Amino acid sequence: MAALLRGNWSFYKRCSRHVDIMMASCRSMASKTPVGFIGLGNMGTPMARNLLKHGYPVIATDVFPESCKELQDSGAQILGCPAEVAEKADRIITMLPSSPNVIEVYTGPNGILKRIKKGTLLIDSSTIDPAVSREMAIAAEKTGAVYMDAPVAGGVGAASLAKLTFLVGGVEVEFNAAKELLTCMGANVVYCGQVGTGQATKICNNMLLAIGMIGTAETMNLGIRLGLDPKLLAKILNMSSGRCWSSDTYNPVPGVMEGVPSANSYQGGFLTTLMAKDLGLAQSTSTNCQIPIPLGSLAHQIYRIMCARGYANKDFSSVFQFLREEGLQ
Ligand code: NAD
Repeated sequence: MAALLRGNWSFYKRCSRHVDIMMASCRSMASKTPVGFIGLGNMGTPMARNLLKHGYPVIATDVFPESCKELQDSGAQILGCPAEVAEKADRIITMLPSSPNVIEVYTGPNGILKRIKKGTLLIDSSTIDPAVSREMAIAAEKTGAVYMDAPVAGGVGAASLAKLTFLVGGVEVEFNAAKELLTCMGANVVYCGQVGTGQATKICNNMLLAIGMIGTAETMNLGIRLGLDPKLLAKILNMSSGRCWSSDTYNPVPGVMEGVPSANSYQGGFLTTLMAKDLGLAQSTSTNCQIPIPLGSLAHQIYRIMCARGYANKDFSSVFQFLREEGLQ
């Protein structure tokens, strides 16, 4: 039935809202048809594996063959490029590093839109510029496809445990069709509004996260230099008004908490380079709409300097180590 609707797209487009509702319900009926997945990195691989666990055949690709091997071993079919995936799947999820990668994967010479089937649902979970999400949605619409942005809150651990939070932007009538897949990979799927609003929400959250982490790191560093025991200081902060997620759940000081990147030489977690990227998005979007973000801008500079000083591939809580080393010079 979904194929029938896709074949008659131009007719149905004329009565678009009615058709939108029918397309959305057809997609949810086609529940175990193959799902395309593009971008098999730290996040994409465990996310795609959770789709496989829920019984969805996965057709995937990545530029690095070694990234594909792991998912192939879990049962996915691997193809050569995004266009090939688009030929075979009418629901495709992308999980790519940044805006230029998304533009390439959707609109490049071997991109999804080159061979897309009408009526395909495209869900981009990468964290990118909301303006690029809007551009991709327009390009997708021209081919008769639907594009939604659905960036995630939560890191690699949450991706493995299917506990991500998806922040979804796009046509509301398609939300349930997207949700059917996203609930296999996440604990929360939140509709934020029109296309790009998922990205806007994500950018705001990560800006606050970065500011909170830097604040926690510099507070802990000062306290330690004033002779306070770090565990005691953290305990007191966490029962006082200074408490925040970076102090009570993800403390950046080695030895204060177990099971966080600071307890493991800042390995794993959320890379400093990705935080610098997300702060760059906050910076450029705030410049475009002329909204002052003085602390967000400062956080951006701090994370950029950290990348230049060798912290790019450490967890973003390594800002504590960076500040401590700065103080020793
Ligand atoms: P990653 O770099 O580990 O993975 C991205 C994958 O995309 C790589 O395997 C890369 O080879 C592939 N890729 C790039 N260009 C491609 C192309 N043209 N065709 C096919 N594949 C291509 O990144 P990640 O950590 O998985 O993050 C993905 C996105 O999720 C980013 O936007 C990031 O900001 C966001 N995010 C990451 C985390 C985290 O903790 N890692 C948390 C929340 C959100």
